[in-house]
Amino acid sequence: MNVGLKVKLLRYTNEPEKTVALAAKLCYSDSDVENLHQGVTEKDVSGFIKKLISMGHLSPTEHASFTFAIEGVSRSLLAQITRHRIASFSVKSQRYVRAEGGFNYIIPPAIKSLGSDAQKEYKKQMDIIYGFYQGWIDKLEKGEKGNEDARFVLPNAAETKMILTMNARELMHFFNLRCCKRAQWEIRETAWKMLELVLKVAPNLFCGAGPLCVSTKCSEGAMTCGKAAEVKEYYNSIK
Ligand SMILES: Cc1cc2nc3c(=O)[nH]c(=O)nc-3n(C[C@H](O)[C@H](O)[C@H](O)COP(=O)(O)OP(=O)(O)OC[C@H]3O[C@@H](n4cnc5c(N)ncnc54)[C@H](O)[C@@H]3O)c2cc1C
Repeated sequence: MNVGLKVKLLRYTNEPEKTVALAAKLCYSDSDVENLHQGVTEKDVSGFIKKLISMGHLSPTEHASFTFAIEGVSRSLLAQITRHRIASFSVKSQRYVRAEGGFNYIIPPAIKSLGSDAQKEYKKQMDIIYGFYQGWIDKLEKGEKGNEDARFVLPNAAETKMILTMNARELMHFFNLRCCKRAQWEIRETAWKMLELVLKVAPNLFCGAGPLCVSTKCSEGAMTCGKAAEVKEYYNSIK
C-alpha cells in the first residue's frame, strides 16, 4: 500500500532554551548553579541564545535533545538519514517484522505526477516484488532467519518507521544540509517538517536554522539552486 510521510515531535528536553542558556551562563559566571538557575529569566534566554549562536559557541546547545517519530518514509531515506552520526535511531526491523499480505511503499512525487497509469504500473511492480519476497519466505526457514534473507529482494521504496533523537546542535547541522534544495526530496521534506516542529517549542534556538541560504550564505558554489529568495520566503511562512 502506498503511504505518506508522518513526522511527530515525541519528546524534548524540558525547557530546552532555558537549559541551553543555563549551560552557557555557567561558562561565564562564578555563581553556583542554583543562583544561576534563578537568574535566568525568559527575556535573558532569547537574547543569550541568539548571542551564543552568532558567536558560534554551540556546545551548550547540545544539552537540549529532541525525539521524533518518523513514519511513511522509504528505506532510501533511511540510508541517508543514518549517515548523521550524532543521532540515535531505532528502526523497524525487516528481520523481526515480516511483510504480511504485501508491504507498504513510497511513491516518488515525480512518478505520481505522471498520472494514474504510471502509478498503476508502479503498484504492479511492487506487487511483483512482493511475490518474489513471498516466494523466498515460503522456501526459507520460518521466522527471523527466513525474513532476514527474503528481505534482500525488497526495494528502496519499501516503507520504514523510526524514532530518532538529535540534540539541537546536530539538528542545526542536519537542517543546514538537508533543508537545502540540493538535498534529495524525501529527506528534504522530512527535515523541513522537523524544523517546523522544533521552531514551535524552541523558536530562539532554531531561529535562523535551515539551509545555509537562510542562516548565512549558500555554500553550494556552481551547484547553487539560485532560489535563496524562494527558500527564505518558505522559511518565513513556517516560523
Ligand atoms: C546533498 C547531499 C548529497 C550527498 N551525497 C552523498 C554521496 O553521493 N555519497 C555519500 O556517501 N554521501 C553523500 N552525502 C552524505 C554526506 O557525505 C554525509 O555523510 C551526511 O550528510 C552526514 O553529514 P556529516 O558527516 O556532516 O554529519 P554528521 O554525521 O551528522 O556529523 C556532524 C558533524 O560532526 C563531525 N563529525 C562526525 N563524525 C566525525 C568523524 N568521524 N570525524 C570527524 N568529524 C566528525 C563533523 O563535523 C560533522 O559535520 C550527501 C549529503 C548531502 C546533503
